Amino acid sequence: RDRHYIFMIRGRLPGGKMTPDQYLAIDKIADDYADQTLRVTTRQAFQLHGVIKDELKKTLQEINNSLITTLGACGDIVRNVMASPAPDIDGRQARVQAFADDLSDILLPASKAYHEVWLNGDKVYSGKEEVTDSEPLYGHSYLPRKFKVGIALPKDNSIDIYTQDIGLVALFDDDNEIEGFNVIVGGGMGMNHRKEDTFPRLGDDLGYVPREKVVDVVKKIIEIQRDHGDRKNRKQARMKYLIHKWGLEKFENELTERLGYELEPFRELPDFELDLYLGWNRQSDGNWFLGLSIENGRIKDDGALQLKSALRKVVKEYGTGVRLTPNHNVILTDIAEDDKESIEHIFDDHGVLLDDELSNAIKYSMACPALPTCGLAITESERALPDIIRDLDEVLHDLGLEDEKLSVRMTGCPNGCSRPYVADIGFVGRSLDKYTIFIGGDPSGTRLNRKYKDLVERENLVEEVTPLLEHFSKNRINGESFGDFWNRVDVEETELVSA
Ligand code: SF4
Repeated sequence: RDRHYIFMIRGRLPGGKMTPDQYLAIDKIADDYADQTLRVTTRQAFQLHGVIKDELKKTLQEINNSLITTLGACGDIVRNVMASPAPDIDGRQARVQAFADDLSDILLPASKAYHEVWLNGDKVYSGKEEVTDSEPLYGHSYLPRKFKVGIALPKDNSIDIYTQDIGLVALFDDDNEIEGFNVIVGGGMGMNHRKEDTFPRLGDDLGYVPREKVVDVVKKIIEIQRDHGDRKNRKQARMKYLIHKWGLEKFENELTERLGYELEPFRELPDFELDLYLGWNRQSDGNWFLGLSIENGRIKDDGALQLKSALRKVVKEYGTGVRLTPNHNVILTDIAEDDKESIEHIFDDHGVLLDDELSNAIKYSMACPALPTCGLAITESERALPDIIRDLDEVLHDLGLEDEKLSVRMTGCPNGCSRPYVADIGFVGRSLDKYTIFIGGDPSGTRLNRKYKDLVERENLVEEVTPLLEHFSKNRINGESFGDFWNRVDVEETELVSA
């Protein structure tokens, strides 16, 4: 066995939706071929870590046999299409999910290569894609860089729509049918600490498009990036840099020319909010769904916390559907009223805490996988954040801030997979065990935060943000959030008392 090469495999799940059979199959594949854990990603997919090279093909075949594909989960194409993770609450969520499924299939590459290399030419995934030899959308060279598409509902910004290359906000008629979409373009999180011309960017409001034209609009935007995105410098290759260099007006003109019509004006929207959908919530069919906070997205059995076993038992015995959320949590769906109590008992018996038993700091925190599984990681993230959050929790309690929905997001490099640049507090891996601290993001994901301190040792991160929390607790007005406060108040001009 060649144990020198270990791989990560990522599945593609539009809107993070899985059937019970799919979840159970992936749970078993994680045991048989990976490191016995499952990682929920911040793009509503799952990752398997520790798959050895000899078993890569077999693992991919088993995943495809469970009717999940890994095609489109990586590479310079449209990645996993994100959508609000809530199962149907009032008719709108199901329509958005159905649209996300369709759009995801439409945007898959058409090449047979994936099936030939990994599946011996068989097409197992039962989506609607037609596997052909030509690539009408992606062309010969695919896109200059990965491309992210997400679909939100009005108010519900759980997908962080302004961080997507294309964000679509579904707008509904009086029957809760999708009427059309507001289109947002040019978001992206990644940056490089030493390259000033790289930066996180929020998307721009572009316009409104009726439902029947939206696929055409999405394709044409992707084609603009395909034809004009930077192919010489990968650090400048995301569509956000094209829009930054061109300006939105030139981008709009190019789109209008390709479409042959102009988009309608962007429609007014209510303010966005972040809803984690944790705890018990009603579905439109009278059943319930249960949102479980998964710390740092890692589903595993570890000592008294038997999370993986508990999820497997509940999904198996109650046939619950599964949704992976953009905040790397899990939602179990289609639960009958009569089963709620026994399901709670199962989680209790396995040491799994439910929504109201967890601190807000844990629930609103996110970490990317980083070391040891991500080849780009400079620092720890997933393994480091639990201790940091517990230390921070103590500070928050001491200051009476434990009810704050403070979002703390950590990454092991500036690529920003856990979207740290829109968080109240972002800890971004900088160099060996050192981080850059960002503060002042908008909890609803509509404002970038700003660099506060650079090259902070991991063990000093909480100490560094404590004076900021103290000052915030004494001087906030009208219940503003930590991020709103430090966006309003200039930290450079503020005299802080050291922790
Ligand atoms: Fe993403 Fe960087 Fe974290 Fe790797 S270390 S998961 S590339 S943010």
